[in-house]
Amino acid sequence: ATTTLSTRAWIDRFIAAVERESSELTELDRKAGDGDYGTNLRSALRRTAANLDAEPSESPRAVFTAVSDAFLNTGGTSGPLFGMWFREFAKALGADVTTSALAEAATNAAAVVQRLGKAEVGHKTMVDAMVPAAQALADAADRGVDVHTALAEAARAARAGAASTEQLLARRGRASYVGENARGVVDPGALTVAMFFRAATDEAP
Ligand code: ADP
Ligand code: MG
Ligand code: MG
Repeated sequence: ATTTLSTRAWIDRFIAAVERESSELTELDRKAGDGDYGTNLRSALRRTAANLDAEPSESPRAVFTAVSDAFLNTGGTSGPLFGMWFREFAKALGADVTTSALAEAATNAAAVVQRLGKAEVGHKTMVDAMVPAAQALADAADRGVDVHTALAEAARAARAGAASTEQLLARRGRASYVGENARGVVDPGALTVAMFFRAATDEAP
């Protein structure tokens, strides 16, 4: 079976998912941060929607460039980091979304965020979901699996990575200022990465 994936529809589902969960995301940042995460994310995604409405092309590169530009223009620690993360998807994805291009994108993207944020896996940040998702996609590319299966595997890996942050103390970001109070709180950035991959294959708007 041929598998086509509309990047535009993927991003639209991601925006809808964030709108549904934005108060939960903000609540997590309120418990272990400064409580602006959901607001930062929603303003980036409103900018994304405006950029996409002004962008005639629905190529993966054009769509991810619109997303990246929106995040790069958003405040908070998460804005520029996600902006640089999405930029690697724009760079690696050509006209078609393939498993190997996704693996390359996610691998380079996780590396860029790790370098900029000086964050390793286990520091309780978005990196804790980005790295396992990239590993899942690289593994899927090695096995030659189709894009939908690969993205479903990446979503599961990202979800597990996000869940793993709950028990951790934070080593980066504002959550690191609250010490033990961050334990028991899932990192909202990692949760957002899981929501992004889940939106790729999710049918619901
Ligand atoms: P802040 O309000 O602290 O400027 P945001 O609320 O916009 O930042 O984003 C917080 C999220 O950013 C965290 O949930 C975490 O995933 C991520 N984050 C914070 N610091 C880093 C870092 N050094 N490296 C990677 N991700 C980070
Ligand atoms: Mg914050
Ligand atoms: Mg802030």
